[in-house]
Amino acid sequence: MKRLLLIGAGHAHAQILKDWISAPVPDTELVIVSPSALSPYSGMVPGWLAGTYRYDEICIPFDALAAAAGARFIVDELTGLDPDCRSVQLASGATLDFDVLSLNVGSTLHAPQVDGVRVLSLRPLGKLREAWEAWLAEPTTATSSRPLAVTMVGGGAAGVEALLAALVRLRARQPARPIRARLITESANLLTGAAPAAARSAHAALAAAGVSVRLGTAYRDTVADSTDVLLWAAGAQAHAWQRDCGLAVSTGGFIRVDERLRSLSHPQVHAVGDCAEWTDPLPKAGVYAVRMGPVLSRNLRAALGAGEPTAYVPQRRVLSLLATGDGSAIASWGCWSMQGRWVWRLKDRIDRAFVRRYTVGTAAPDHPADADPEAR
Ligand SMILES: Cc1cc2nc3c(=O)[nH]c(=O)nc-3n(C[C@H](O)[C@H](O)[C@H](O)COP(=O)(O)OP(=O)(O)OC[C@H]3O[C@@H](n4cnc5c(N)ncnc54)[C@H](O)[C@@H]3O)c2cc1C
Repeated sequence: MKRLLLIGAGHAHAQILKDWISAPVPDTELVIVSPSALSPYSGMVPGWLAGTYRYDEICIPFDALAAAAGARFIVDELTGLDPDCRSVQLASGATLDFDVLSLNVGSTLHAPQVDGVRVLSLRPLGKLREAWEAWLAEPTTATSSRPLAVTMVGGGAAGVEALLAALVRLRARQPARPIRARLITESANLLTGAAPAAARSAHAALAAAGVSVRLGTAYRDTVADSTDVLLWAAGAQAHAWQRDCGLAVSTGGFIRVDERLRSLSHPQVHAVGDCAEWTDPLPKAGVYAVRMGPVLSRNLRAALGAGEPTAYVPQRRVLSLLATGDGSAIASWGCWSMQGRWVWRLKDRIDRAFVRRYTVGTAAPDHPADADPEAR
């Protein structure tokens, strides 16, 4: 009996489990390790921050998906890897051996800790949930009338969208409380890589929400001196254990993979999504992890001796949809951009369909493209 070990409840691993339900590989034990049974879908996280969705609505129930696939679901976390001995170490102290390993563990953020300031890092998402809900539940958050200073560090899609969403929630809770909001980013513009018109729309949405934007500004401790809440979305980073896990990694610690999504140094190890790095690095966006899913599924089967592998070809342009918190959203594709309420409705429909697809027991389209036509 061989063992296929999946580490992380990321977007691509949802597809592996889904495929395994209808076509398990004979004589293979499928095991998945994740710190939590519920895996939040990041595209809907801003909607949850805004109060549009409940937390369970934005999550794929991986335990149920694993059960439907006949896989063993282990609530734990990888802390170390020995690719030569084909084993992983878990936070609980347990060790697991594998024949074929797949890593879909996302990325993380290293936010500073500042005394007297509420720091909310946008990753890991499980910790963000605890921190956000604990802060909202504090009596002083709900009752204080003194002006509240909120600072977002990070001018990418996640930073812009999450700040606008957080402001919606805070203003709905205390309409009379003044909020001083700002966004700072090292980049020369918002939404680097998006259509220029999308960046202009993001500036307009932030201005309408009363946010002052400072471009080309690095975070310094003095920023924290003048804020009550520091939201952190500055640049996806590799998990610390990746740096010395024995696999070939980039200077940033991301696992280097070939076109079959295999580690350059250890082909029995596959890596996808944010934790992996392509020769020509891809942006850290969920759409790539989603699109790698079907390719990974086929290649893991091939690695187990079932079928032929295939190459992952990254899409040249991706459609990104960014909610502005006012019932509208911005679409960006190549150098094209549109904004409107219909864009928000489209985003909502796509995002809900994506989660529904992996929620076993609900009717869902058979192929990810039906739920997610290139968009996140
Ligand atoms: C607020 C926010 C909004 C975003 N919105 C968008 C968007 O609209 N469109 C878009 O394309 N991208 C978006 N992104 C980026 C997107 O989140 C990531 O690119 C995407 O989630 C990467 O997917 P993944 O499958 O690689 O990993 P993830 O979805 O992050 O999944 C990784 C999984 O691995 C688990 N894990 C982590 N470490 C371990 C470990 N040591 N052991 C076991 N399990 C582990 C985690 O708990 C998690 O379940 C957003 C990011 C944020 C923070």
